[in-house]
Amino acid sequence: KVVTRFAPSPTGHLHIGGGRTAIFCWLLARHFGGEFRLRIEDTDTERSKQEYTDSILASMKWLGLDWDGDLTYQSQRKDVYNKYVDKLLETGHAYYCDCSVEEVEAMREVARAKGEKPRYNGKCRERGLGYAEGRVVRLKVPAEGRVVFDDMVKGPIAVDVNELDDMVLRRADGMPTYNMAVVVDDYEMGVTHVVRGDDHVSNTPKQILIYQALGLAVPTFGHVPMILGPDKQKLSKRHGARAVVEYQQDGLLPEALVNYLVRLGWSHGDQEIFSLQELVKLFDGKNLNSSAAAFDPDKLQWLNGYYLKHTPLDKAVELTRPFIEKSGLSLDGKNAEAAISLYIERASNLNDLAEQVKPYLQNIEDVVFEEKALNALDGQGKEQIKNVLALVRDTEFTAENLEHVIHDYVETSGVKFKLVGTPLRSALIGLAGGPSIHLIMFALGKAETIKRLERALA
Ligand code: GLU
Repeated sequence: KVVTRFAPSPTGHLHIGGGRTAIFCWLLARHFGGEFRLRIEDTDTERSKQEYTDSILASMKWLGLDWDGDLTYQSQRKDVYNKYVDKLLETGHAYYCDCSVEEVEAMREVARAKGEKPRYNGKCRERGLGYAEGRVVRLKVPAEGRVVFDDMVKGPIAVDVNELDDMVLRRADGMPTYNMAVVVDDYEMGVTHVVRGDDHVSNTPKQILIYQALGLAVPTFGHVPMILGPDKQKLSKRHGARAVVEYQQDGLLPEALVNYLVRLGWSHGDQEIFSLQELVKLFDGKNLNSSAAAFDPDKLQWLNGYYLKHTPLDKAVELTRPFIEKSGLSLDGKNAEAAISLYIERASNLNDLAEQVKPYLQNIEDVVFEEKALNALDGQGKEQIKNVLALVRDTEFTAENLEHVIHDYVETSGVKFKLVGTPLRSALIGLAGGPSIHLIMFALGKAETIKRLERALA
């Protein structure tokens, strides 16, 4: 059974890089009908915050990434980790060390001077020290050999043990180290595939040595390259390296963000659009790019526009609702579906969409009229408004009826369509250009249409 996990540190919101890793792990588990587990790596008590854990979980839910079983909190598992450290001490795979920080630094200096990797020289290996307060526990790394693993993304990787020193497993204060905790957790959670950012690739040989010392099966590893900015430099705030929740607040759809992030590191021919179900079907952990991909904000907006366009109208209304309510407006009693349908084809996000339907929801007194619209409400414009107003008073408001009324009026009056359309649109929504008059009227409804036209004449 395939078991994957996502292991965020709650020191900030879920960022798009972490989000992408989580999506890959989730997809791999779902593709193989396995399990996707979540672990909160909150051992850094200074920087870890409950509000970030909450925020990460909320972003996971928003993205549609459900997890199996209970959450694992590293901060609650110190005793478990120490049990494994004790086991390594008992089996002779680990030893106590009382070297001072200065001594260890001096050893590193010696190695550096020889042009070697700075490392602890193994002084306490054979001293047979027992427990005493302040002593660290170190792993007895094999004297020679190589740690080899076949990375799902990067292919075979081999590291000579000489590059690794007898790493600390338990600190002087009794706290297990990061690599120790991760190995114990991944083992106890039954993780078969560790997929994570390649900033962790140097931890992997160390973790493999711990697995081997504990006599445990080593999982499969996959290290995904980081996301670069459009200029191929490290992704930063400036490029839109933002938290998932910020994209949510911007009005992106989770399906679009998932689709975008997956494609940024994985491919299936040159296909761009994938539904979640399709991704689950296709994503088997192969075809992950080993080179870093560049973040492209325009493509993300394009993709979001695509998903928006394909959202059923009733769902689009519900998605847009919070963005509308944010500006103090309400959809109650309004034909929101009709208004939204006029703009959904071209909007690139929900924020845009909410902005565009604003004039339909505001009191006409609050609508900001653009200059061109004000100019269109002159004598000639008013004449057209007056004539159309007289006709719509007697019209039953369906889009079809309204279309006929406008069409017939233009035909019989002989006035150019533009000379009718521009003043009417201006009177109705404060904009000279935009959707067809009959559709605007239909979206506003009869009472509001009449009210707005009368106001323009007053
Ligand atoms: N907590 C680590 C991070 O936030 C993840 C480590 C791992 O996946 O093994 O980068």
